[in-house]
Amino acid sequence: MRSLFIKRVHLKEILTTARESNIEICGFLIGTMKGEDAFVDYVVFAENRLNSPVKFEIGPLETLKVLEKAEKEGKEIVGIFHSHLNCPPYPSPRDLKGMDLWRNAWLIVNNIGEYRAFVLENGQIKEIKVEVV
Ligand code: ZN
Repeated sequence: MRSLFIKRVHLKEILTTARESNIEICGFLIGTMKGEDAFVDYVVFAENRLNSPVKFEIGPLETLKVLEKAEKEGKEIVGIFHSHLNCPPYPSPRDLKGMDLWRNAWLIVNNIGEYRAFVLENGQIKEIKVEVV
């Protein structure tokens, strides 16, 4: 994967929610892949069922619902997003385990408006470009 294309309004919604939350926020980026690029059509916020400022987890049932809806629409989960509080938007060791399970784009934001995206390729963290459109 090379780039993640996301609309300004969607990124802003994620950043605003992250800024106003005292736990990590999380959710799904739904859209389509075109070659090496992911295009986000919409975002779905999910419950962080760990209710924690240092980690997140999305329930399997919630994941399944989002996955089924996306498939019905001919789309896919092109990425996962979550926030960090008071630390850089860079994958934690725990995130790496999640990235190993979900081999899509990982958009990480923080509560001061920073954002970066990564994928795990051949066991290595690779940063991809976030194209705000
Ligand atoms: Zn994280």
